[in-house]
Amino acid sequence: MPTHASLPIAGDPGLTRALAQAVATCARCGFCKVSCPTFPFGGGYETFSPRAKVYFLRDYFAGRDVLSPQWVDRLYRCTTCERCQAVCQTAIPLVALWEAARADIVAKGLGPMPAHKKLRALAEAHGNPYGEPAVKQSQWLLPEHRPVKTADILIFGGCTASYRMPSMLQTGVTILTRLGIAYAYAGGLEHCCASPLLRTGQIDVAGELIGRNLDLFARAKARTIVTPCGGCSKTLKHDYPLWADKLGKPFDARVRHFCEVYVDLLRQGRIKPSIPVEKTVTFHDPCHLGRSQGLFDEPRELLAAIPGLTLVEMARHRETSRCCGAGGGVKANYPQMAAAIAKDRLEEAVATGADMLVTMCPFCQGSFSQAIAETGAGIGLSGLEELLLAALPQ
Ligand code: SF4
Ligand code: SF4
Repeated sequence: MPTHASLPIAGDPGLTRALAQAVATCARCGFCKVSCPTFPFGGGYETFSPRAKVYFLRDYFAGRDVLSPQWVDRLYRCTTCERCQAVCQTAIPLVALWEAARADIVAKGLGPMPAHKKLRALAEAHGNPYGEPAVKQSQWLLPEHRPVKTADILIFGGCTASYRMPSMLQTGVTILTRLGIAYAYAGGLEHCCASPLLRTGQIDVAGELIGRNLDLFARAKARTIVTPCGGCSKTLKHDYPLWADKLGKPFDARVRHFCEVYVDLLRQGRIKPSIPVEKTVTFHDPCHLGRSQGLFDEPRELLAAIPGLTLVEMARHRETSRCCGAGGGVKANYPQMAAAIAKDRLEEAVATGADMLVTMCPFCQGSFSQAIAETGAGIGLSGLEELLLAALPQ
């Protein structure tokens, strides 16, 4: 069975052949259906389940069914959270399947959904899906930060952190600065990592953005690219090597989420959390950090190293963690469903009795920030790096 990493990129005919073989193995168990965060919002109809989508795509690949507007809509009601893929008993690479289906929908002019077209237009015009001017990209930098032009480490802020939720990025760079670790940053020149375009099937513009970032990485001579974002780190790790091959551009940098960097620093004794942070927290595993990259232990190792801090786990955590509802273009086009999924997850966090919900992805942080504001839930929200910084002596 092909794995996601071994598959060709969306839009490649080889991918369609591999997926057509994969979907034929579906055992109809329904494990994916009961695990899917978006299925409950389909009114209980089986046609909204991942299992039904697999069956539709099996028939579609075989030329026995056609893409109706209803199927297009259902195929976009997916956050690419990978929960279905994690439980699939025949190991079908389901997320690659959903993304390939979306690329096919776009290629045939039957999609994407209206909000996704806006993301594309903004990314094409401004290099980011928020439509922000490039001059604002580095607005999160603090006076104490000391980025240089070239260094082994290149900071890749990502659009959500740079323009909307900068605290994790800002704190991570503060920690590097205080340790005297050199880092480069190309503020104003970064393009969107292309995750929102790849996940919504808009691979032509995704390829353009990826190509520009690959050129930037080559110019910066980056050996290690560090980012605070689950989605950016997943995309840079998993999609960029495939696209670099396709585009004929070099890409040999090591990609790391900030949590991996902190754990290295902790194990090397270069950071020593010693100031107590007297809080009980619960940790939300971002889908694209946990299931996509296997980074479950790293955040917990960091939390365990902070004196005074107690971790209480939610019922669904690590591999079984529930999505925040934002990924895969869902928050853009189905904001009510995304908000409901975030509130469902927030309830789970509140039920632990924790003072604070902690995560390590600015996109998840945005979802929960909105959910807390809308529900008035009595729980704090923080990036893990802010707790880490609070525990470090100056
Ligand atoms: S990736 Fe997540 S949202 Fe999409 S079908 Fe699978 S479980 Fe459902
Ligand atoms: S979990 Fe896998 S095998 Fe089971 S119904 Fe879903 S796609 Fe088919």
